[in-house]
Amino acid sequence: MSAWVQQTQTEFCKRRKLNLTFERKSEMGIIKMTNPIVEIDGDEMTRILWRLIKDELLLPHIELNTVYFDLGLENRDKTGDQVTVDAAWAIKEHHVGVKCATITPNGARVKEYGLKEMWKSPNGTLRAILDGTVFRAPIAVKGISPSLRNLEKPITIARHAYGDVYNGVEMVIPGPGKAEMVFTDGAGREERRLIHTFDSPGILRAIHNLRPSIESFARSSFTYALSTRQDLWFSTKDTISKQYDHTFKDIFQEVYDNEYKAGFEGAGIEYFYTLIDDAVARVMRSKGGFIWALKNYDGDVMSDMVSSAYGSLAMMTSVLVSPDGNFEYEAAHGTVQRHYYNHMKGLETSTNSVATIFAWTGALRKRAELDGNAPLGEFAGKLEKATLSTIEAGQMTKDLALITDLKDVVTLNTSDFVKAVAGRLSAL
Ligand code: NAP
Ligand code: MG
Repeated sequence: MSAWVQQTQTEFCKRRKLNLTFERKSEMGIIKMTNPIVEIDGDEMTRILWRLIKDELLLPHIELNTVYFDLGLENRDKTGDQVTVDAAWAIKEHHVGVKCATITPNGARVKEYGLKEMWKSPNGTLRAILDGTVFRAPIAVKGISPSLRNLEKPITIARHAYGDVYNGVEMVIPGPGKAEMVFTDGAGREERRLIHTFDSPGILRAIHNLRPSIESFARSSFTYALSTRQDLWFSTKDTISKQYDHTFKDIFQEVYDNEYKAGFEGAGIEYFYTLIDDAVARVMRSKGGFIWALKNYDGDVMSDMVSSAYGSLAMMTSVLVSPDGNFEYEAAHGTVQRHYYNHMKGLETSTNSVATIFAWTGALRKRAELDGNAPLGEFAGKLEKATLSTIEAGQMTKDLALITDLKDVVTLNTSDFVKAVAGRLSAL
């Protein structure tokens, strides 16, 4: 055989091998998607994670079908923030979205980016259009131990996002006098309550909430509990607040009895109301594995308690669920500005991509469930498994390396961690 023939044979074998690899891959199947996910890109370090996750973890395995919106601050400014509104409507149309963290501009950002306006919080705009409740849950992984030793499964917080002290009206009372609450109805009739007769300086606060908003909070909580098959707890201080908090309790019970009871019984899960102080005591003794619905302020405080009980901000998922069945997944943390500035200076970063990976797997799994696409759902499970097993094998980013109880830990930089996950994913 001539040298030339030999060479073409070698080339042919090489190509054949490549073809074989390719065929094998497509036999395994590049997973197809029927309906799209609304993909919302964002800012800074998380925008870099976004690209890495797509390139290394998703595109090699999925024929990714997304409707893309660039919510990077430059594009929000360029479009007069129309892109945020469009993204929200697209989620209403397609029912599943995944969002990268975005900058909420303040004065410093207006200067830094030369913005036309101090644009509103993108999450605020999305929530206003989608009308939802935010659910936050820690990602449990072996080697990162919760500080509460009895916790075995995550506790998910469902926080009402409207009213109470966040829309309160306050007054400093300078000295003696009478404070009253007055409601005037459409026909001009007044109803009054004496709040207090002051004989010294003091302080005053009025708060409110809305029946439709509480109903929507209840429906979102019940819908999410059903979709994740976990018990739902709800707690307020209704023994003291006999009208305000009691109304929350009554609305939850009405919505449950009329719309969800049968579904809960069918799924073998429970709705459970208890006083907030009793709930706190039970949570401290619990194994986790349920959803805890809380009023706005209670949810603010308790989600910080729950996240620190589990370990790290970068290991917390977040999903906005609207009562009419739209789901928007994201990481609970922000754009990790400090790491991004280091990255821009050419310094090495070790930013944890786990919550952003789980935002994608949450969205893919929900898409799979809505479309009856089993391979896509299986892929989401595999990607989560690959991510967690990478950490459990001692390969992790710096934030986790500092708190893990594993020995022989290798601290990886931002992209090496994603690559380590990619390696495990391909082997699954
Ligand atoms: P952040 O992004 O949550 O980060 C705060 C600090 O937490 C970081 O500096 C870092 O600590 C640690 N951290 C958070 N995520 C991490 C990760 N994935 N891996 C490793 N460490 C992580 O908050 P920020 O830097 O104060 O805020 C930056 C921007 O995010 C702001 O413009 C804010 O508007 C925006 N934001 C957006 C959202 C959202 O879109 N959902 C939510 C919150 C904030 P070390 O520096 O000590 O390493
Ligand atoms: Mg807070």
